[in-house]
Amino acid sequence: MTQQTDCCIVGGGPAGATLALLLARKGISVTLLEGQKNFERDFRGDSLHSVVMELMDELGLSERLLQLKHTKLDSITIQDSNGFNTVTNFKYLNTQYPYITLIPNQQFIEFIIDEAKRYPNFHLVMGAKVQKLIEEDGIIRGVAYYEEDSWQEVRAKLTVGADGRSSRVRSLANFEPIKISTPVDVVWFRLPRRVDEPEGVLLRTGEGGIIGMADRSEYWQISYIIPKGSYSKLRSLGLKAIQDSVTKLVPELADRIELLQNWNQFALLSVEASRLERWFRPGLLLIGDAAHVMSPFGGVGISYAIQDAIAAANVLIKPLQVGEVNVQQLAAVQRQRDLPTRLIQKYQALVQNQLLTATNVSKPSQLPRLISRLPILRDLPAKLIAFGLWPARLQN
Ligand SMILES: Cc1cc2nc3c(=O)[nH]c(=O)nc-3n(C[C@H](O)[C@H](O)[C@H](O)COP(=O)(O)OP(=O)(O)OC[C@H]3O[C@@H](n4cnc5c(N)ncnc54)[C@H](O)[C@@H]3O)c2cc1C
Repeated sequence: MTQQTDCCIVGGGPAGATLALLLARKGISVTLLEGQKNFERDFRGDSLHSVVMELMDELGLSERLLQLKHTKLDSITIQDSNGFNTVTNFKYLNTQYPYITLIPNQQFIEFIIDEAKRYPNFHLVMGAKVQKLIEEDGIIRGVAYYEEDSWQEVRAKLTVGADGRSSRVRSLANFEPIKISTPVDVVWFRLPRRVDEPEGVLLRTGEGGIIGMADRSEYWQISYIIPKGSYSKLRSLGLKAIQDSVTKLVPELADRIELLQNWNQFALLSVEASRLERWFRPGLLLIGDAAHVMSPFGGVGISYAIQDAIAAANVLIKPLQVGEVNVQQLAAVQRQRDLPTRLIQKYQALVQNQLLTATNVSKPSQLPRLISRLPILRDLPAKLIAFGLWPARLQN
């Protein structure tokens, strides 16, 4: 079976789903191939930053989006032995959305997909795990996936790989990501949150550890940062050891730590960061994590993935409406997003190293305190996280 479309997008994460919507509303025929049968995912981040909410506003979707169950995060606070320091305060930002909106990834993607489904030129295929690129005369002409005992082909003027950090499209196109060193991994788990506990995101640093706690109303989404590759050692020490390490950093959790009774309650995120030197080939563009895997520090991966989709839509809508897309146009998408992405990755590395320093020396880092005292420094991280450098704005 062969299907013809203007743009074939592989991967229905934040990047692919948003691009599909932005193209479909301009009358471009779009086929979105999602490898999974549904949009249920383990915790993959819930954060929609101000730049994303402004996009939703421009699309006339923000009010309806905010009718979904959500939490508003207006600050990030670090607690170390010096006490509490609010290191990032979104309240001062000059925007209608001076906070991070926390909505589970699944609900956000389903919301965007439902919106795209209003356009008859949008086609979604679930359970379509792309395994081949169709290449003719050095140009990518589409993809193939296997379904019901036969190969299905989708041929397109443009193929977009938005299939995330382990992108199959990226490897099929022979792109080799440049790895950025990340000295840590993250262990995720949840514990109930009491209504009288602080809101927002709390970071606890202390000798031997860092814990991040994100308020999800009824529970805390907790990230325990460990040295890279040390998860199996941690497990070999037994549940009591991890329970003790957590309560050493966050004594308030002692009353519920014993709810963690099984290693199935923990998930390991192998922290990675990387980027591609080139995001495109004739007929093919990579966006989101497929082009640049983001470390979770600052929670900016979703926002950067969506901004890639905005930049791609701005540049490619006209060429897709009138004919073929050329490599200069694909290069223009990368040019708009490459530098902001590289800089935020550097910023993430800086924050990560700073946090690690705070756990390794007896005298905690003075950086958080310094940042909170100088207004110019105080507002910078908030702006950087909420909008990034050179935020992408919808032009069509
Ligand atoms: C544990 C964890 C926590 C995170 N926390 C945050 C956070 O708090 N805030 C934040 O902003 N970011 C966070 N991130 C990063 C964020 O999830 C990513 O940066 C973001 O999802 C990237 O979006 P994307 O659309 O590029 O890729 P993804 O969201 O990874 O979507 C890729 C999609 O492609 C599909 N796919 C894969 N292979 C194929 C194939 N062969 N064929 C068809 N479809 C395919 C997948 O099923 C998936 O739906 C976190 C990541 C992890 C792993």
